[in-house]
Amino acid sequence: MSEVMEYKCPCCGGAIAFDSHVQKMKCPYCDTEFEMDTLKEFEQENMEQDHDPQWDASQTEQDGEQIGGDGSMSAYICEACGGEVIADTTAGAMSCPYCGNPVIVPKQFEGMLKPDLIIPFKLDRKQAEQKLRDHLKGKVLLPKYFKTENRIKEVKGLYVPFWLYDSDASAEIRCRATRVHSWSDGDYEYTETEHFLVSRGGDLGFDKVPVDGSEKMANDLMESIEPFRYGEAVPFQKGYMAGYLADRYDQSSEECAPRANERMRESTVQAFMSTIQGYATCVPEHTDIRLKKGTISYALLPIWVLSTKYRDKSYTFAMNGQTGKFVGDLPFDKGKAVQISGGVFLAVFLITFLLAGLL
Ligand SMILES: [Zn+2]
Ligand SMILES: [Zn+2]
Repeated sequence: MSEVMEYKCPCCGGAIAFDSHVQKMKCPYCDTEFEMDTLKEFEQENMEQDHDPQWDASQTEQDGEQIGGDGSMSAYICEACGGEVIADTTAGAMSCPYCGNPVIVPKQFEGMLKPDLIIPFKLDRKQAEQKLRDHLKGKVLLPKYFKTENRIKEVKGLYVPFWLYDSDASAEIRCRATRVHSWSDGDYEYTETEHFLVSRGGDLGFDKVPVDGSEKMANDLMESIEPFRYGEAVPFQKGYMAGYLADRYDQSSEECAPRANERMRESTVQAFMSTIQGYATCVPEHTDIRLKKGTISYALLPIWVLSTKYRDKSYTFAMNGQTGKFVGDLPFDKGKAVQISGGVFLAVFLITFLLAGLL
């Protein structure tokens, strides 16, 4: 069984990769384009050739030799140049550091590890870099030299493993609400507070609530570049990963389920609460949410990760590789913040002074 897989151009023998502009495989040397469906046939043929049964358990060694004391890294041999490619044991797509060819490790995405869906990259590296420049524009509190001194260290197009949960929820929510109105008859001020018990009940369906199944990706960073358009997801094919990085999951769907449930509960409460309007206050006193057993699918979603360095500190940004939504932390200039709040204070003071002058 071959350890790694590379897509070669049948015209010139060059390494081909997925091109997000044409949404096809494209040879960077002779510009020939290949439909993803054509590739599917090729992948299947390849699978058939490699269908020898593996009797000997020691053969698993061939799946990439584990190196490093803790077994967290694996080594593969690049078919094109024979160079050694070293990667995390969860990595399934990378490029050879010697010849630059895209390398895919099929066993990371086969059998139980095979994703159901993939959203192909729609935006490329240049668009990600442009988004970073736009992100820095107009940020008043950014230190003066950040834009000029900050250097892009790395830009990675990464397919991140996600679990997508479908479920139905039925919920009952009861709230204590009030309405207040005041009036005056000239002598007295009256305030009347009316108390209400408001209840809401019903069913709600959730479709593809995502939770990332990769330990190294920060959950909050991943959640902040949502939503993805799942209508554009296609059945998984390894070819989409050629030219990008991809990780298989290292957190199971059971491990990620509590986060999905939490998100569904929060959204259910929000959805029901948003239908209660016209009250001065509204406090939930009882919520009963029952999530029904649903289905789970495994998907790879496209994310550009950009890291930059400024004065020895690293900053990470992420962009949704499908929609372009961009997030990331920026340094904060304390001196500037003080100047700005000082300005606000001064303006308030002036207005007060003017009002006093008028009286
Ligand atoms: Zn070619
Ligand atoms: Zn190579």
